Amino acid sequence: MIGSNRQGGDLGENLQAFRDEVRAWLTANAPVGWREKMAGADGDGFVAFQREWFAALAPSGYATPHWEKGWVGGGRSLAEQVVIFEEMARADAPRLLLHFISLYHAAMTISHWGRDDQKRRHLPAIIAGSVWCQGFSEPNAGSDLASLRTRAERKGDRYIVNGQKIWSTMGQYADWCLLLVRTSTDGPKQAGITYLLMDMKSKGVVPRPIRQITGDEEFNEVFLEDVEVPVENRLGEEGEGWKVAQTTLSSERGLTILELAERMNRALWRLMEALASHGRNTDAQFRREAVGVQLRIDALRAMLADFMARSEAGSELVGASSMIKHYYAQTLREFTQLGLRAQGLPGQEQSPMTLGGGHETGNWMVDFLNSYMWTIAGGTNEIQRTIISERVLKMPREKLS
Ligand SMILES: Cc1cc2nc3c(=O)[nH]c(=O)nc-3n(C[C@H](O)[C@H](O)[C@H](O)COP(=O)(O)OP(=O)(O)OC[C@H]3O[C@@H](n4cnc5c(N)ncnc54)[C@H](O)[C@@H]3O)c2cc1C
Repeated sequence: MIGSNRQGGDLGENLQAFRDEVRAWLTANAPVGWREKMAGADGDGFVAFQREWFAALAPSGYATPHWEKGWVGGGRSLAEQVVIFEEMARADAPRLLLHFISLYHAAMTISHWGRDDQKRRHLPAIIAGSVWCQGFSEPNAGSDLASLRTRAERKGDRYIVNGQKIWSTMGQYADWCLLLVRTSTDGPKQAGITYLLMDMKSKGVVPRPIRQITGDEEFNEVFLEDVEVPVENRLGEEGEGWKVAQTTLSSERGLTILELAERMNRALWRLMEALASHGRNTDAQFRREAVGVQLRIDALRAMLADFMARSEAGSELVGASSMIKHYYAQTLREFTQLGLRAQGLPGQEQSPMTLGGGHETGNWMVDFLNSYMWTIAGGTNEIQRTIISERVLKMPREKLS
């Protein structure tokens, strides 16, 4: 069997006892046979399952190791967080897709910028399962986010919000939204942006799911018409939203890709074992390609281990996160192509699937189509390449016409 069993998360610390503890908890509690159960589920079925799994996991503290000490599970070192992700991947436990934005983007931003009353209101609610979405992108403001135009006018103790957001992941299921709005058009475009916490049940908020090529409806357009947001729901000062948004954008510090890289490694093993069990792993060309993918995964894990160690020591390399993100997106594409080829003709068939978000479904056509997400989400490949060329390779700055 190909595959490496290196454990990348220890970052020099001896965490075997903690690893054993996490492993034992997952052995006792992680749902079994969930892939089969989810194979025919629709969006609502998927969401119910995610809520159930989150409710089981949250009290253990393994969903919130990155939170401040004092909160359930909080105050874990980065190395311990890495161990949790590695063990979740090893146990093939479901990813926290529905609550991810709540646990990272919302919780980290509110912890950093929120007043005490905002923290007391929202952080316990997140542990109890409230779902957040992110309302940053707009039809004409994605890579160039600072061009956003959704307008918020202050009227007494409220903001009146009008505009449209797009690509809000899980927006149709969300209770709250991290919303970027324009409160001023004077001066540089970043200076007129304000950050609001918007109740998704407010009058005038209409999420409209977007059906993807896979048949899933993971994203939403969110229409906002005369939505009233209390001024007390602002995060940071008026006009300070761009700075607050940087906390949101860097809230998960590479941990997502670390988890996904571990899961990709496991998924490659599962694929190779399945082929071996049918005596279908003998084709020389296929074997070469599989080894190529394994080498890429190992290189990615090495890059991540280095990134995490430097991040812990406060000495991150310029452009490293862009290189990792880009490399991951390319590797995932190659991996899902390999899976598609392994499946042969039946792999060309696309059956309806639940929201998989990567290589998790085992339906290779869906996984291959979903792999394109990673060339866009969190900054497109083109933008990452620009960052690498300018900041790492010190090439001349891009001139936009
Ligand atoms: C899986 C996924 C989840 C997402 N979730 C959310 C969410 O929850 N909330 C949210 O607000 N947004 C979300 N997004 C949106 C995401 O942030 C944007 O799609 C992304 O920022 C790109 O913006 P855009 O789609 O408007 O493309 P554009 O910025 O319009 O880009 C279009 C094309 O032009 C290229 N391009 C643009 N500018 C340049 C440049 N300067 N140089 C070279 N090429 C350039 C891009 O690379 C791309 O190929 C999500 C996207 C994905 C794929």
